[in-house]
Amino acid sequence: MARPEAQPIASHFIDGAYVDDTAGTPIPVIYPATGKTIATVHAATPEIVDRALASAARAQIEWATTDPATRGRILRRAADLIRDRNRELSELETLDTGKPLQETLVADAASGAEALEYFGGLAVDHTGTQMSFGTDWAYTIRRPLGVCVGIGAWNYPTQIACWKGAPALATGNAMVFKPSEATPLCALKIAEILCEAGLPNGLFNVIQGLGAVGAALTTDPRVAKVSLTGSVPTGRKVAATAAGELKQVTLELGGKSPLILFDDADLDDAVSGAINANFYSSGQVCSNGTRVFVQAGLRDAFLERLTARLDGVITGDPLDENTNFGPMTTEAQTRIVLRYLEMAKNEGARVVTGGHRIDREGWWIAPTVLTDLTDDMQVVREEVFGPVMSVLTFEDEDEVVARANATPFGLSAGLFTRDLARAHRIVRQLQAGTCWINQYNLTPAGLPFGGSKASGIGRENARAAMDHFTEIQSVYVGMGPVEAAY
Ligand code: NAD
Repeated sequence: MARPEAQPIASHFIDGAYVDDTAGTPIPVIYPATGKTIATVHAATPEIVDRALASAARAQIEWATTDPATRGRILRRAADLIRDRNRELSELETLDTGKPLQETLVADAASGAEALEYFGGLAVDHTGTQMSFGTDWAYTIRRPLGVCVGIGAWNYPTQIACWKGAPALATGNAMVFKPSEATPLCALKIAEILCEAGLPNGLFNVIQGLGAVGAALTTDPRVAKVSLTGSVPTGRKVAATAAGELKQVTLELGGKSPLILFDDADLDDAVSGAINANFYSSGQVCSNGTRVFVQAGLRDAFLERLTARLDGVITGDPLDENTNFGPMTTEAQTRIVLRYLEMAKNEGARVVTGGHRIDREGWWIAPTVLTDLTDDMQVVREEVFGPVMSVLTFEDEDEVVARANATPFGLSAGLFTRDLARAHRIVRQLQAGTCWINQYNLTPAGLPFGGSKASGIGRENARAAMDHFTEIQSVYVGMGPVEAAY
């Protein structure tokens, strides 16, 4: 199969055009399925950072007063263009991340388009409130914040750019987006498409770089808000830096989410849920339900059906649509996952299936199911961010709720049961930003998404995201004479 062109026209997209500054540190773009370099971009120099912020600040002034209907129309046009080019964008996502094309064709550009369409539609409907104080009255306006920074993780480069860009732009902000240094390609295409859809120059800029470029953006006084998707340690740094300048932050961070399978659940649905919650994107999904609590009566049947279903895993060239399981996105993450597997084995875990590197070029780890675990093992407590499912057993509701919540994380949770009263009773007790009942990992644009506890601050998607990209201005209107003491 002919490979799509990976090398972008230039490293950055600023003020409506591709620009480069080869003085920046070269960043190789490596196709994870082969470990070979397929493109090179350069990290933003201070001049590039400044150009991006300056163009965003300039463009945002007019955009803030642009009719929201016009703003929305541009975003919806971009959604249409993304859908028209789904295959091309999906292939690029596959080259950037290694995720199988079978997956990216339906998940990534599609999710980005959905966000642009959703926020494009809502742009006209982000309203304030009105209240009375006797004959005086007041109203509130939702004002854009100004220049917002988006910083992305490497697992969903197209989706993250759109989930941050769409609500920011719909509400009248400009954005400077820094993709992960591991997956720099996709966001450039989104910037290009937004311009083609009619977005005025300077409103969505993409610049490349490692953590230092993210930090430079976070500290710049021109920036009003930072929205980060990344790990908890990076989240702490970004929040601390932003606090110095009193910037607003949205943090979408890591997780170690519980998936609870009651013994009255439909077995096939429960197994499908567990597969989707652990092996999609080779397990590199923040909201994955990696602590799978199976009620004792269901355990053996669950493991038997799960291992049989995992026979259906097809590894191979991710650009081949028959492949349904891809490599890890980075070599560093591959090493991290292999280290967790070693630790788990040393601590006495039993490997039901997988547990090893797949012997082919690139960065591959077999889908892995572990049992004979205790809640205090490192592989059960910490985010592994790879295709590693920890299967734990439980007896009753109170026990499983306590164990599910015994984590510093709180991104997501899921449960499978046919008893809907129990389902709702349990979700009210789970400390998690998003819970799925008899489903897992679906994140429609209309549903708020984000973390509790160490998994984050704020919410993406839905009207909640528009609130996070705006601030309330209160306007008091005096209708009578003004009294004064003297
Ligand atoms: P990471 O924290 O290493 O990097 C995330 C981004 O932050 C990168 O673009 C990086 O360059 C940048 N960065 C690093 N240091 C910085 C600093 N000091 N200031 C500003 N920016 C800085 O995360 P990752 O390894 O790219 O992604 C994996 C993590 O992301 C996992 O923990 C995963 O759970 C999390 N994640 C969360 C969500 C969510 O929505 N909650 C979604 C996807 C991934």
